[in-house]
Amino acid sequence: MPQKLVIGNWKLNGSLAANEALLKACGALAGVDRAVCVPFPYLAQAASLLGGMALGAQTVSEFQSGAYTGEVSAEMLAEMGCRYVIVGHSERRALFGEDDATVGRKAAAALRSGLVPIVCVGESLAEREAGRVMEVVGRQLGAVLEIIGAQGLSRSVIAYEPVWAIGSGRAASAEEAGEAHAAIRRWLAENGALAAEMRILYGGSVKADNAAALFAMPDVDGGLIGGAALSAQDFMAICRAAVANGAC
Ligand code: PEP
Repeated sequence: MPQKLVIGNWKLNGSLAANEALLKACGALAGVDRAVCVPFPYLAQAASLLGGMALGAQTVSEFQSGAYTGEVSAEMLAEMGCRYVIVGHSERRALFGEDDATVGRKAAAALRSGLVPIVCVGESLAEREAGRVMEVVGRQLGAVLEIIGAQGLSRSVIAYEPVWAIGSGRAASAEEAGEAHAAIRRWLAENGALAAEMRILYGGSVKADNAAALFAMPDVDGGLIGGAALSAQDFMAICRAAVANGAC
C-alpha cells in the first residue's frame, strides 16, 4: 500500500523570501509523500529547496506549444522538475471558465509529458443540499474519463474538494468526506480504473486540528491543502497526522 500523500497548494501567494523561509522550515519527514504546488515563477526556486518533497504546479495549458500567449505547457513543467499538476481546481472552474472537457484536455496534456494530474472534483453547497454530490462528481470525472480513458485516470490522483469547504473554514466532516471518497472509488472501479490503487485526496479547510480525523477514514488517502500550507508549522502538523494514520 502506498503512503498517504499531502500536497500544498500555495495558490496566488508567495515571495522569494517567504518561500525560502517556508520551505526551509518544512523539514524531512518519513512515512508520508509530500508535494508543494507553487506559482510558476517560483518553480525553480522551490525545486532547489524541496527537502524531500515533490514539486507541482497549479494549472497547465492544454496545448503543447505555439501562439498561446501566457500559457505554460506540461513539457515546460516537467523540464522544471514538476511531478504533479493540479487540473480543474474549483477556482479555475469558477473564475477562469474551465469546463469539464477543458479539465480533461489538461489532464491529457499532463499525462503526455509524464506528469501526474491531480484532478479536482466537488460539488457546491446547493448541489450537496439537493443530494446531487455523485451526480456532479460523476459528470466531472466522466468528462475526464472520456478524454484520458480508464488507463489515464488510473495514473491520476483525484482530489475531492467540495466547493463549500474550500477556504471557508468549514471542512467536510470525516463522515461526509469518507462517504464521498468511498462513492468516488466505487465510481472509478465501475468505470474501469484501477480504483483500489488510486489515491483520492480530500481538500477543503484541512487544518492541523481536523486532519487526523479526515485521514483516519479508509478511503481518504491524503489531502490537498490550501491556506494551511502557507504555514510550515500547520503544514507539517497535517503531514504528521498523515504519518500517524499510516498507509492508504
Ligand atoms: C485548495 O485550494 O485546494 C484548498 C483546499 O484550500 P483550503 O485548504 O484553504 O480550503
